Amino acid sequence: MPKYTGNVGKPAQNNKSKKSHPGSFFRSIFFWLIIIFGALWLIGMTQAGGESLEEVPISDVIRRANAGEISRLEITGTEVIITPVGSEEPTERSRKEAGSSIWEQGLEHNSTEVTISEPSRFWDIVLDASLLLIPIIIIGVLFFLMMRNLSAQSSQSMNFGKSRARLYGTDGKKVTFADIAGNDHAKQDLQEVVDFLKSPKKYEALGAKIPSGLLLAGDPGTGKTLMARAVAGEAGVPFFSISGSEFAEMFVGVGASRVRDLFDKAKKNSPSIIFIDEIDAVGHKRDARGGAGREDEQTLNQILTEMDGFDGKTGVIVIAATNRVDMLDRALLRPGRFDRHINVTLPERIDREAILAVHFKNKPHQKLDLDALAAKTAGLSGADLANVANEAAIMAARAGRKEVINADLTEAFEKVAIGPERKNKALTQHERELTAYHEAGHAIVGHLLPDSDPVHKVTIIPRGRTGGVTWFLPPEDRSYKSIYEFKDIMARAMGGRIAEQLVYGVDAVTTGAGSDLRHVAELSRAMITEEGMGKKLRHQVFPTSDSGFFAGVVKPFSEDIIKEIDTEVAALTEEAAKRAEIVLKSNRTFLDHLAKVLLEKETLDQQEVTKILEKATLPTSVKLH
Ligand code: ADP
Ligand code: ZN
Repeated sequence: MPKYTGNVGKPAQNNKSKKSHPGSFFRSIFFWLIIIFGALWLIGMTQAGGESLEEVPISDVIRRANAGEISRLEITGTEVIITPVGSEEPTERSRKEAGSSIWEQGLEHNSTEVTISEPSRFWDIVLDASLLLIPIIIIGVLFFLMMRNLSAQSSQSMNFGKSRARLYGTDGKKVTFADIAGNDHAKQDLQEVVDFLKSPKKYEALGAKIPSGLLLAGDPGTGKTLMARAVAGEAGVPFFSISGSEFAEMFVGVGASRVRDLFDKAKKNSPSIIFIDEIDAVGHKRDARGGAGREDEQTLNQILTEMDGFDGKTGVIVIAATNRVDMLDRALLRPGRFDRHINVTLPERIDREAILAVHFKNKPHQKLDLDALAAKTAGLSGADLANVANEAAIMAARAGRKEVINADLTEAFEKVAIGPERKNKALTQHERELTAYHEAGHAIVGHLLPDSDPVHKVTIIPRGRTGGVTWFLPPEDRSYKSIYEFKDIMARAMGGRIAEQLVYGVDAVTTGAGSDLRHVAELSRAMITEEGMGKKLRHQVFPTSDSGFFAGVVKPFSEDIIKEIDTEVAALTEEAAKRAEIVLKSNRTFLDHLAKVLLEKETLDQQEVTKILEKATLPTSVKLH
């Protein structure tokens, strides 16, 4: 069932969503059952009568009756209602033993008036039944309410064929281009679509064909969803969205009927926008499909069929998003389908600042150095930056401040980039010292090698999943990496473990370097297989299929090549370790000193590290150029 958030400006829509739920039928039946049984119970109580009279022991009653103090006894079953002499109404009650008459129990004949009536079975039964039934009914009602809740939650999966598309209103959560920073070219392209949607007549009159499909391609978190919503917001049209990955969980045939339902809804509400996130989940190349291939193919075919059925007047624009254009089935990209592509890129420095500004717009703050943060955040997406801004606000709130300050920003960035500080993690003194040497090793090698970025910060406070962190940051955005840079990065990554070895001995190495070694392995393999940077294997790349059914199986090159790749990777790793060792051996005094200061201060910034390493020098034998 679609969730209607906000008023979509179409009253018919709202009426539909108010249609009574089947659950209310059951609810009313149970409501009336409770009322009826409740009433019966009350009547039963009064009919059974005597409940309010004082209860006295039957032996007393018999004694007083024999003494002539009681004028009348009314016996119903075992119940005895007593009217004493001088009273019109009964004032007491008692219970006689069952199985024998009241005379057998000691009442003298003719001592008093006795009326015996059949126990009123009907009301007894009703009484018993309702006492028994009321808890059952209550349980039943609770059970039904629970079921109703469950089915409301899963009404999406119960309504198998119904699309789970969400429709956002044109008010309330309206997103506009002003909410998107950077990516100006993408916004320009999308502005055109907004125009189409706003005044389709203008285009129809000129015989221009309105595009039916548009593909937003870019990394996760770069704002693709945001842009699609902004198009809807700017044009003031309904926005239906669904994610390709949702189709993946579906039963056979469900995906296709979902698509049909989604398109039907969008057409009914046209002009409108359909947004299909992660379209690669159903639209990947046919050969890359695994076991679920047929179902995906049905879903995909349904999307294509629907789009092919659009004529100039349909007024529905389908926007799809993916971060894997290369994985998409060609059929999706044909004219009339997703034939317009808009690349959405990771933000550059200026855009990062603008994105931060957007996200601090509604957060009270002191003067923040957004430019400095933008400079430090190469490679972060818009979503990451939004996250940093949010974390900063949380930090400020936690500290009891009314405004976000610069320190919140720094702390938030570090938390998002490498995980929160874990100050309370218990490390032994030896572990702290080992961490200090390890991080000092990274820092010195990185600081001295010319093609490594400068040290931004070193800390031995555990953060995220690491014991300590040495953090390098590029002074500017860069798009390309050279062989020298790769090699310096690998050497500084080796610096941690090599420092441990120098101080504690070759076999005293710890698991602390695990992620460093994985990093080296990834980089060296990428150099050889992806970048054509090998010694022998230069200018040649060796793609491995890294996803889909045949992941890692198909390698379109020979066994000899595989051996050569391994040899080259091993040589690069060896070289990195060797260079780190030479640098650290010849700077042993600086290693000891830096580790000592780290143990004292725990965290050092760029200036402090530079100061300590002022006189350290790079041995000529590790120079590459
Ligand atoms: P995608 O769909 O590309 O994965 P989203 O559109 O879901 O990315 O982006 C997630 C969030 O990141 C957005 O809701 C927004 O808060 C933030 N964001 C991403 N890009 C930008 C941008 N260019 N300007 C402002 N905020 C952005
Ligand atoms: Zn390390």
